[in-house]
Amino acid sequence: MGGGLTGLRAAISLKDAGLDGAVVSKVHPLRSHSVAAQGGMNASLGNVKGEGGTIDSWKNHAYDTIKGSDYLADQDTVELMCREAPRTVIELEHMGNVWSRLENGKIAQRPFGGAGFPRTCYAADRTGHNILHTLYENVLDHEIPIYEEFLVTSLIIEKGHCQGCTALEIRTGDIHGFSSKAVLMASGGFGRIFNRSTNALINTGDGQALSLAAGATLKDMEFVQFHPTTLYGTNILITEGARGEGAILTNKNQERFMEHYAPHSIDLAPRDVVARATEKEIMEGKGFKGGYVHLDLRHLGKEVIIGKLPGIRKIALDFAGIDPVKDPIPVQPGQHYSMGGIDVDITGASKIPGLYAAGECACISVQGANRLGGNSLLETVVFGRLVATKIIEDIRKDKNTNATEKSVQNAIERVRTKINDILQRDGENFFKLRDNLTRIMSDKFGIFREKKNMQEGLDDIKNLQKRIDHTAPKNKEPELNQALVKFLELEGMLILAETVAKSALARRESRGSHYRTDYPARDDVNFLKHTVVDLKDGEMHVSYKPVKLGLFEPEERVY
Ligand SMILES: Cc1cc2nc3c(=O)[nH]c(=O)nc-3n(C[C@H](O)[C@H](O)[C@H](O)COP(=O)(O)OP(=O)(O)OC[C@H]3O[C@@H](n4cnc5c(N)ncnc54)[C@H](O)[C@@H]3O)c2cc1C
Repeated sequence: MGGGLTGLRAAISLKDAGLDGAVVSKVHPLRSHSVAAQGGMNASLGNVKGEGGTIDSWKNHAYDTIKGSDYLADQDTVELMCREAPRTVIELEHMGNVWSRLENGKIAQRPFGGAGFPRTCYAADRTGHNILHTLYENVLDHEIPIYEEFLVTSLIIEKGHCQGCTALEIRTGDIHGFSSKAVLMASGGFGRIFNRSTNALINTGDGQALSLAAGATLKDMEFVQFHPTTLYGTNILITEGARGEGAILTNKNQERFMEHYAPHSIDLAPRDVVARATEKEIMEGKGFKGGYVHLDLRHLGKEVIIGKLPGIRKIALDFAGIDPVKDPIPVQPGQHYSMGGIDVDITGASKIPGLYAAGECACISVQGANRLGGNSLLETVVFGRLVATKIIEDIRKDKNTNATEKSVQNAIERVRTKINDILQRDGENFFKLRDNLTRIMSDKFGIFREKKNMQEGLDDIKNLQKRIDHTAPKNKEPELNQALVKFLELEGMLILAETVAKSALARRESRGSHYRTDYPARDDVNFLKHTVVDLKDGEMHVSYKPVKLGLFEPEERVY
């Protein structure tokens, strides 16, 4: 489920192993959010030397990732990802991906936030676009079936095994059933439960919500990343690559304010640090009217801006009427990434046999409490490949079973009845609920969090959950009913919002992206552990599980 980088990479390996797989995606694969990734993908190729001529290594990459995660990442999965990174970049090159180059012809690498070395491989500032097209062409070449504009609506679970899924064909309104020995969730993040977000409108966390409902566990849902530089007004991302190339943040007094918050890394401190600092400047009245600061690229010169950052120049021109060659870009923090997701082990297997997850929808725990820029594209391609290895192994060992004709028909019937009910009833316009939800999430569960506010937020979410059954899409046609799609997404979003709220309330400390003004310090004694959420008899339960250490001991995080 999913036609982004994770889904496509996994599909290629499954096909290479001779398995009969298919990609099911609610949009054309090339419209998946992966296409919007700008800045790049991390790998310790060592093509550009670090301070004092030092050479990068997987271990340096792992150290930065673990420190960046505020020690919440599982260190075995981080080691695996960082060791696999260099060959993954080369593998993509061999598949046909075009990377930006150094003078000597090697793959170029730029500095990124929280990284001790220039480690981020890129294709100008359109890296996701390039990689997604590369994988898509490979999928076509492999003749892998693609069910595009099919919205997965439920998982088929029999005797505790995941054996397939149902999907709404958006064009016709038909409900289909898929019987399969494995379902891979590769369905991306849930950023759109917030109202100021860099995410595509389709990033509604359907995979996480369907998995939770089917009995899987969600992990670390309180850790939501806010990116410091989203375009004021639309919240379109302005890549960290801009600061990697030397852009600086300034407030209305023209102060380079990051010097006060991160004296060593300054503008290239990790995202949680820069987003908090930026929000604080704005809250203290040092931002511009309306609530933004400036990202200044002018000193980089026209050649660098046009050569290395053409995408963000175009975004600034088209959406704000500003040419960054001549003027600073107005930016403000916005939701950007979901660190939490479906709880899987190091192989990508969930606790339900037959159900796997990888990429942004999963929590294999490489990102912990705060993801470093460039590590997500890496996660999608590395674990897209590795989870396929696990699926192949399980299927060859005959561990998995697929759904019988009868259980597929029953599952289809359940979804059909539900959708008919939704379309037949009248009620309040549900888009109001969606707007309310996203506002509540940004207001009460944003960069700065506090008990009273969050409790109010949770009460509001519970109220919205009760109201959804009294709302309905106005469009009653079965064909091409986008309102119905949005309605089905909203049901899941309301559940995910509750998981974020409950996990955030229970974590009485500050770590990575989760900052509580009432508990401003990190508390390793009580909270160096993962939050896990399960649904039992319709009730949500929050509990904890240990973090896997082993490589680096937690220390104070200074930049
Ligand atoms: C603007 C932006 C820029 C970024 N830049 C970078 C960067 O430079 N470097 C980096 O490392 N990371 C970056 N990231 C993060 C990174 O791009 C994502 O985390 C990653 O691409 C997610 O890939 P994915 O395969 O997990 O999911 P996605 O690419 O989001 O794909 C999800 C897929 O699931 C499908 N799907 C979802 N629900 C359903 C359903 N119900 N039924 C059927 N199909 C469904 C969708 O159709 C889609 O095909 C950026 C993110 C954003 C938003």
